[in-house]
Amino acid sequence: MAAQRIAVIGTGYVGLTTAACFARLGHNVVGADVDEAKVAALSRAEVSLHEPALAEIVAEELRSGRLRFAHGLPGTLSEVDFVFLAVPTPTGNDGAADLTAVSTVLAQLREQISPRCVVVVKSTVPVGTVDRIVASLGRTTVVANPEFLREGHAVEDFLHPQRVVVGSADKHAARKVARLYAGTDAPVLMTSSASAELVKYASNCFLAMKLSYVNTLAELCEELGADISDVAEGMRLDQRVGSSFLTPGPGWGGSCLPKDTKALLSTSAAAEVDFPLLDATIATNARQAHRVTDKIRKAAGGALSGVHVGLLGLTFKAGTDDIRDSPALAVAELLAAEGALLTGYDPCVPTGRQVGAVRVVASPYAVAEGASVLAVLTEWPEFAELDWSRVTSAAPHPVIVDTRGLLPASKVAEAGLTLVSVGRRDRR
Ligand code: NAD
Repeated sequence: MAAQRIAVIGTGYVGLTTAACFARLGHNVVGADVDEAKVAALSRAEVSLHEPALAEIVAEELRSGRLRFAHGLPGTLSEVDFVFLAVPTPTGNDGAADLTAVSTVLAQLREQISPRCVVVVKSTVPVGTVDRIVASLGRTTVVANPEFLREGHAVEDFLHPQRVVVGSADKHAARKVARLYAGTDAPVLMTSSASAELVKYASNCFLAMKLSYVNTLAELCEELGADISDVAEGMRLDQRVGSSFLTPGPGWGGSCLPKDTKALLSTSAAAEVDFPLLDATIATNARQAHRVTDKIRKAAGGALSGVHVGLLGLTFKAGTDDIRDSPALAVAELLAAEGALLTGYDPCVPTGRQVGAVRVVASPYAVAEGASVLAVLTEWPEFAELDWSRVTSAAPHPVIVDTRGLLPASKVAEAGLTLVSVGRRDRR
């Protein structure tokens, strides 16, 4: 396909990856954002997101001239072939997705784009949004193209996606969007805009459901004397179940699952369809931070007031710097409410920063210093490789609560430390 002219509005995890990777695929791309400081930094090839290969691609494509950044809407909007919307769609007051940013951008660009420009909605939006945009713009060239990338793997997932979904009543426009991904060899699913919009929520909510399910199974294992790691392994070997999202943890979080589960619940309520499964998925997760807090309180001897608790991991999962809606911070908030004194370490959160009630320190060993309890809240692989004798030398010896099932139990025990696990009975 000949190089196309593309504008990507919003340069966060999704927008910056989209802009950089389309440039890498040979298109001419401008990434636009309301955040002036971010645009200035990106124009200097300074990428603050922790995404492997993204900074390199941005730097190379800035040099190649195929990528540039603009503050506000780019002045060249009338010349572009595609406008991708990659702005936030957070949870609104009523639980539904708040589409303010999408509406703001559309109001600004409607007078500026040419009639043949295709508007592509990459933000996660409720079913019916594309139809409403078609009605408000008075044109059909609007395509739903939800994004499935995982933070921490954004470039890899964009350039090698498991599927590309394009939905529109305008099949010609949908095919044009699909062709932009020609260099990725991904299977393309062409649907209505409603189906494309729903695929995104259906997938994310299913993943949340799996995690709530496995977290409850872990609780059951503790009561029954079974071991969640064996149970999950037995499930993983069944291809019908699938191998991912079967590891228990402190709850699911991040910038997508919490808002997308609430939004789909709101969508189903508006459509008068009962969705108790999704309701229970959310309620189970809300309980999870309390369950972890109970374990930490017990490990501390029954009360948390004035107790120093060290947190290993603050991001919502390993491999990203994103702390938005992190379950680690939900646990931290509950601990702080009971008077615990909190330090934390995370390889992707800058030292010296205060995150809520957590003072961020420079190393896992600095977290252990003076802590009565250490809680592993994010599954960073380096936590499994700690020098346990160094942790033991921190006074007092902390009890370790491993909410991710990450630590090598025998090595921790050999060092003389007490380990509290999730999803199995601990040997005392
Ligand atoms: P983000 O918060 O990382 O980035 C959004 C960017 O949009 C910010 O840089 C912000 O300054 C900018 N912005 C806000 N309002 C704007 C406006 N009016 N004009 C121009 N720029 C504006 O968000 P994100 O994580 O990239 O998510 C964007 C969308 O993609 C959301 O709908 C999200 O649900 C969806 N999504 C996210 C992921 C993910 O893993 N983060 C994955 C798939 C889909």
